[in-house]
Amino acid sequence: MTREIRGRLEGRVAIVTGASRGIGRAIAQVFGREGAKVVVNYRRERRKAEEVVEEIRGFGGEALPFQADVGDPGAVEEMVEESVEAFGGVDILVNNAGVSMGGGPLLEFNEEEYDPMWRVNVKGVLHCTRAVAPHMMERRYGKVVNIASIAGLGTALLPGNMLYASTKAAVIILTKRLALELGQYGINVNAVAPGLIRTEMGMGYQRAAEQAQRLRYFEEKSILRRIGEPEEVANVALFLASDEASFITGQVITVDGGRIDFITHSL
Ligand code: NAP
Repeated sequence: MTREIRGRLEGRVAIVTGASRGIGRAIAQVFGREGAKVVVNYRRERRKAEEVVEEIRGFGGEALPFQADVGDPGAVEEMVEESVEAFGGVDILVNNAGVSMGGGPLLEFNEEEYDPMWRVNVKGVLHCTRAVAPHMMERRYGKVVNIASIAGLGTALLPGNMLYASTKAAVIILTKRLALELGQYGINVNAVAPGLIRTEMGMGYQRAAEQAQRLRYFEEKSILRRIGEPEEVANVALFLASDEASFITGQVITVDGGRIDFITHSL
């Protein structure tokens, strides 16, 4: 087998949550290509997670699929323990798993939609980070990369995403507070805030008219006049997970093609 690994993460062990498709899949692939041993976490789609693992092994890398619901602290602990056992430690955690369950205007607020979204998007970040932290603290090395959203920065002001936005705003403040708490142990915590990205979630509006309107909104608001690809987020996650970003912590990097509304706001 030809070994094509290039090595920006050579020798590192990374857990990528929600890596069976979309942005998480692209992150797992690029990490594997750069030499990391990758735990490809998923919740439901085992076949797809196995495909990602096969791709990584195909270019000479090491990877394992691992089923765990990030909202379940016991399952997360087990995933981390087994990752440590299989690969000897955990150096990098990407908290990517997320769900977007709609939620309309205030008067339609509905806990049945909100609670599961909070459980995965916010508590998932806490469960996973808490489970890896002792291992990283012991070795005085760790990189945590959270996948937030520009919605959490107060833009992407679409009807129907207010509640999702609030979970991503929570991820942003957790990024800063966890960076503050863990920095003394040599652990960097940063976030990527993507704009609209071509994934199942990004393209997932059921009604074609709504989807078209959403696409138009994002294309018009982006300086580059387009939506993004999963690899464009993965490349930034790679940078933040690598030692090239060794003096960066508590930061949120937007990957959204540049927002026209941010520029006008600052003038
Ligand atoms: P996606 O295509 O829907 O993929 C979501 C992934 O998360 C899948 O692998 C899914 O696994 C996994 N997942 C969902 N719930 C989980 C849970 N409880 N435990 C473990 N894994 C779980 O989403 P995406 O667009 O790639 O989004 C990835 C992240 O980027 C999310 O945090 C999202 O909020 C954020 N984001 C996305 C966009 C966008 O436009 N796409 C923009 C900004 C931010 P299974 O399928 O195996 O269940």
